Amino acid sequence: MRHIIRNIAIFDGTGSAPVAGAVVVEDDRIAAVLHDAAAIAAVEADHVIDGQGGTLMPGMIDSHTHLTWGSSVEKIYHQFILPPEELKIAAWRNARVLLDHGYTSLYSAGALGDQIEPELARAIEAGETPGPRLIPSTLERSPEGEEGVETGDVFNGRGPDAMRAFVAYCAAEGVKSLKLVISGEDALKPGSSGDILYTDEEMLAAGEAAKEAGLWIATHAYSPRAIELALEAGARILYHCSFADDAAIDAMVAKKDAIFYAPGPGVSVAALEASPPPYINMTSMKASAAERLEREKTLVPKLKARGVRILPGGDYGFPFNPHGRNARDLEHFVTYYGFTPAEALSAATMLGGQLMGQQVGQVKPGYLADLLLVDGDPTQDVRILQDTNNIKMIMLGGRMHKSPAVQPVAA
Ligand SMILES: [Zn+2]
Repeated sequence: MRHIIRNIAIFDGTGSAPVAGAVVVEDDRIAAVLHDAAAIAAVEADHVIDGQGGTLMPGMIDSHTHLTWGSSVEKIYHQFILPPEELKIAAWRNARVLLDHGYTSLYSAGALGDQIEPELARAIEAGETPGPRLIPSTLERSPEGEEGVETGDVFNGRGPDAMRAFVAYCAAEGVKSLKLVISGEDALKPGSSGDILYTDEEMLAAGEAAKEAGLWIATHAYSPRAIELALEAGARILYHCSFADDAAIDAMVAKKDAIFYAPGPGVSVAALEASPPPYINMTSMKASAAERLEREKTLVPKLKARGVRILPGGDYGFPFNPHGRNARDLEHFVTYYGFTPAEALSAATMLGGQLMGQQVGQVKPGYLADLLLVDGDPTQDVRILQDTNNIKMIMLGGRMHKSPAVQPVAA
């Protein structure tokens, strides 16, 4: 199957301004990116898609996703922990909701249920259910006796051997990225963000075991010490890091080619905007959100200026921050962190593709054809991506999830 998408401006993911042209897709990959009118006219294809002057761009990538955090724009749950059957249904639905909103790849930041994400990732890959490419994770691990999700004996024992057992369990289950909660969380327990939940020995053991098993590590880290532990363990992605000091910034910069950083503004902004009913107290969550956002306003530009790869993805799935609003993170990058719209888009596409470790996130020959056709120019205003009515086509691996008008080629 050969498609040509023409009459478009192409945003290729690198951050360069969109350029007029056409894209040829063959089977699941991008076969050619053309800018010459004669070359475009000469292409023979099974389907011609007239982009009507819209922008063709890579599908978006969310770097901090919790599919088992139930709430989406389609269904709000007023409880956080769902019964197992409902949890699975919510995760499968949320994968489809994210694809409907232009997200073609997700990096999981942990799950509330065991085995859900590896099974979902397999089902998506097999075409059994619609959803983005998924780097699956398992229960977010915090050690015994510490604040965090109850993870049972296999998971939350103390000491290096418990860490190795956890990694082995995850590898056998088909998980690709572990989630380790190194810092406490002010939003849940005020004053705990400076707490360190793991020892050096534990983190090093987890790092070694994960490396041997070919797994990646994602970390919840706020304080300089937590960041140091994450880096020592070889974490691939660090979340939050809001309390990083100069030494922690230097340490992140020293490893900039090996790590990614996702501050996660979405949940902070949504917490500040939320007006909960009287029986829900969000006071500490709002205070924590305001403090983090304020710190990140200076932290994120510093890290960006020094070449650290910074990605959107903001803990969507709370009732006040439902899945499907993920593209708001791009706007937050512009508003709070000083990104240009094109830089925010590049972070959500090209840099996200590097995090996924797959040929995604760029409009480039040989890359997987994960593509969006957008009515308008998101490099002028990233907010247009927040309305699915503006996303005319969603293609995942060369297959249409959402079709624009497709005309068969005249014989
Ligand atoms: Zn998270």
